[in-house]
Amino acid sequence: MSRRRRLYEGKAKVLYEGPEPGTLVQHFKDDATAGNGEKHEVIDGKGVLNNRISEFIFTHLNELGIPTHFIKRMNMREQLIREVEIIPLEVVVRNVAAGSICKRLGVESGTRLPRSIIEFYYKDDKLNDPIVAEEHITAFGWANPQELDDIMSMAVRINDFLCGLFMSAGIQLIDFKIEFGRLYEEDTMRIVLADEISPDSCRLWDIKTQNKLDKDRFRQDLGGLVDAYREVAQRLGILSEADNALATGPRLVK
Ligand code: 5GP
Repeated sequence: MSRRRRLYEGKAKVLYEGPEPGTLVQHFKDDATAGNGEKHEVIDGKGVLNNRISEFIFTHLNELGIPTHFIKRMNMREQLIREVEIIPLEVVVRNVAAGSICKRLGVESGTRLPRSIIEFYYKDDKLNDPIVAEEHITAFGWANPQELDDIMSMAVRINDFLCGLFMSAGIQLIDFKIEFGRLYEEDTMRIVLADEISPDSCRLWDIKTQNKLDKDRFRQDLGGLVDAYREVAQRLGILSEADNALATGPRLVK
């Protein structure tokens, strides 16, 4: 049996060579890390839930005409994606202050921002992904001004869609991180959304209780991460109660 070639292994995902040229397989691991890998745990069921939640969101974005790398989900942990050239930026959109902006600017966590803010971080583990300005991005050639315009207008549209989606599930979208890539097709190139959107990369607070339904449960040692992710999936209508087995892997059918 032929083994797939592993092209890249990150903290929470692995990329394998895809079945057709120009495609890859994105595999969601159960690994959770924080503090640039200083804290690490394997959380049974996380990868399966993130695969489903990210599939759901990317499918809707594709339908809305926001181009993404997503083609289809293949199985419990894997999706087929288009191969793109990743732009080395983490694009963070914030609606409410939480996390690093509170430390950096002394804003109280939970403060609604006067308008949504887009920030850029340069993807480099050795440098701890530093925050950068548009000037750095264009000066160092990580993206050109036209690409940055495309990225920002897509980030705003994605935020609008996600805010509405989560709001209808009783969840407030505090902030999220996305990544973009260049998709080359014949002699054209366009910017598409890449990576994933899941409770690993968003802050999601229950509107009524303010309970955290995201990776901060791991970062802050709150416990109950898989239950929180499953709650998000159920409220979005992705998992029915009966589907709960999906989060913990196969079960014996009696
Ligand atoms: P902060 O800058 O406050 O730490 O994070 C802002 C948002 O981006 C949060 O929703 C956080 O989960 C997400 N985020 C920032 N950096 C990363 C990262 O390296 N990986 C993931 N999965 N999410 C990130």
